[in-house]
Amino acid sequence: MKAVVFHGINDLRVEEVRKPQPKPGEAVIRITATTICGTDVHIVKGEYPVRPGLILGHEPVGIIEELGAGLGAEYAVGQRVIVGAITPCGQCFYCLNGTHSQCHGPLGGWRFGNTINGAWAEYLLVPDARANLALVPDTLTDEQVLMLPDIASTGISGAESGNVRTGDSVAVFAQGPIGLCATLGARLRGAALIVGIDPVPERREMARRFGASVTLNPAECDVVAELKRMTEGRGVDVAIEALGGQPTFEAALRSVRPGGILSSLGVYSGKLVAPYEAVYAGLGDQRIVTTLCPGGKERMRRLMEMVATRRMDLTPLVTHRFALDDLHEAFELFSHQRDQVMKVAIFPDAQAAGLRSRAEAVAVQG
Ligand SMILES: [Zn+2]
Ligand SMILES: [Zn+2]
Repeated sequence: MKAVVFHGINDLRVEEVRKPQPKPGEAVIRITATTICGTDVHIVKGEYPVRPGLILGHEPVGIIEELGAGLGAEYAVGQRVIVGAITPCGQCFYCLNGTHSQCHGPLGGWRFGNTINGAWAEYLLVPDARANLALVPDTLTDEQVLMLPDIASTGISGAESGNVRTGDSVAVFAQGPIGLCATLGARLRGAALIVGIDPVPERREMARRFGASVTLNPAECDVVAELKRMTEGRGVDVAIEALGGQPTFEAALRSVRPGGILSSLGVYSGKLVAPYEAVYAGLGDQRIVTTLCPGGKERMRRLMEMVATRRMDLTPLVTHRFALDDLHEAFELFSHQRDQVMKVAIFPDAQAAGLRSRAEAVAVQG
């Protein structure tokens, strides 16, 4: 089968590899659509280590191709499914304590394109299939569910972990795909004031579509002062950090009122500092919570319900489409944030998706 294999820093190759075979409890799905995540960019740049030889990608939409033993009562070949980026086992210490994303240990629930082969391929082996294969209703298209395995689940969890309540004031730092979904999550949970913060005008525009009542450009104003001004000097009830840097983490912390919550979604490196005045010398009754994308089939079912009932629509995030053969081009565009890209959709079967890969186009012309 065709797959995109990570061979080292800045070295991705589209190549032929062996098609996976399912063992008992596992399934193989034929990927019909997948995408590229900011985390993949970190991996390719060498900022998050994975082993060379691994197929990357953790956002699968596909069709069941083959079932390992023990799954026949619940699933059938040919069913359309999504699988969360996080594939918990449902049975270990962490899963049974309710922290499924930390399955078997720190970040252990994240396996696709991290510790096992991922979704940038024609076929994907799904571990613990009974806990992770989520059937897609016929009424939903691949692109309608493509953002659910990671971006939507992660972003919305920012509002859930922040325990956003009816009437809350919420600030969301950064309006990339995850920040936009956090903005959406704040709206769905009934926040009154939702402030979307980002220096890029198109992203602030999109933030309003996703539920922001106000947007701020951090390059043009003192965000913390503005947020305090909007909340009678108190600071917001919930601040969501959706970038992963000291400046946004610190601004989020400084903008949370005493007793409020900083809900952090960012992926950080180096040291994270909390200045004493931002936490009221450690006596401010604030909480800092971190969340890794919630996965598993029940999470995916709930998110699909929200799309099916038109409570949310994530298709505006898909701005570009590519064949798997053209992954380099897609990666180049996405990693450099060119052409106002938000998310790219990647299709292993370019013809079925109505695309023609560059490689094929050249062959036809030749
Ligand atoms: Zn991701
Ligand atoms: Zn587990």
